[in-house]
Amino acid sequence: MEESYDAIIIGGGPAGLTAGIYLLRAGVNTLLLEKMLPGGAPVNTEHIENYPGFPEGISGRALMDLFSGQARALGLSIKEFSEVQGVEKGEKGFTVKTVDGSYYTKGIIVASGCEPAKMGIPGENEFLGRGISYCATCDGAFFRGLEVAVIGGGDSAIVEALSLAHLVKKVYIIHRRDSLRAQKILQERAFREKKIEFLWNKRPIEIKGKEQIESIVLEDTKTKEILPLRVDGVFVYIGIKPNTAFLGDLVDRDGGGFIYTDNALSTKTKGIYAAGDVRVKTLRQISTAVGDGATAAVSLERYLLGDQ
Ligand SMILES: Cc1cc2nc3c(=O)[nH]c(=O)nc-3n(C[C@H](O)[C@H](O)[C@H](O)COP(=O)(O)OP(=O)(O)OC[C@H]3O[C@@H](n4cnc5c(N)ncnc54)[C@H](O)[C@@H]3O)c2cc1C
Repeated sequence: MEESYDAIIIGGGPAGLTAGIYLLRAGVNTLLLEKMLPGGAPVNTEHIENYPGFPEGISGRALMDLFSGQARALGLSIKEFSEVQGVEKGEKGFTVKTVDGSYYTKGIIVASGCEPAKMGIPGENEFLGRGISYCATCDGAFFRGLEVAVIGGGDSAIVEALSLAHLVKKVYIIHRRDSLRAQKILQERAFREKKIEFLWNKRPIEIKGKEQIESIVLEDTKTKEILPLRVDGVFVYIGIKPNTAFLGDLVDRDGGGFIYTDNALSTKTKGIYAAGDVRVKTLRQISTAVGDGATAAVSLERYLLGDQ
């Protein structure tokens, strides 16, 4: 017989772990399913400066160890390396199918976050792990003393370019426009950093190399001029894609695949809530994921009590 819970949380990032803390404190029998280890996206961020309570900043891993430590101390059951592959709606509850088993639950909080978007250009898949990376914190050290390109102009691109600048000889920031979307404070830091050079109005069209990346081919978005650039690594930060495929049509999504929720963070299916980066929202940060986790947990608790 499959194990049965009142609540299942899918994803162990800031949103999922916060939901776990709130549900456990409300006495709800809860299981958290995580496809890797708990912690979510922040474990790959070297230094977090904008999460309140840490005036000196804190490493993403240390912050998330505090989150998961608190959740476990309250008794949250976390199943690691347990990727959810499907959710089926039954008469009263749901069956959640993972790589190694199925679980029955009355309610679900989807907190499965996002994956990096890909450039979709020749050479990108071929050189994955051989020069192409989506995580400077994970792979930056392999490029010590070398030259790398960072693709993108948002917060993530600039944060990671600044952290790479401590390790590598040179960072080219390649952006398809002539100004950045990133926060002003990050822009100013990047403009001051001597190892960073901006290549404006350029888009990558091909990655070339033999065993490892040797160059990236750029196209000028205005003049259409083609520019080969010699680099040893390419770090891609051009956006994110939400992890929602396992939900089929149990939720409504926007054009980017993000889940629509109401104020209580309920989706179109009663008993399924969405929290964190995975849902349609204005700001995707740890602080907003934490707020979502708390809201979704309280909404699910009320649903279980028959109040919603
Ligand atoms: C490079 C970068 C730098 C950032 N810097 C900052 C910063 O300085 N400050 C800040 O506040 N925010 C920062 N962010 C944003 C922040 O990381 C996110 O907003 C936050 O992590 C969202 O939390 P979440 O719980 O919604 O999702 P995530 O943190 O993405 O967690 C989702 C979890 O779900 C798991 N999962 C996915 N699919 C499944 C599945 N099918 N089954 C089971 N588990 C699954 C994943 O493995 C993951 O652990 C940064 C993001 C990036 C990419």
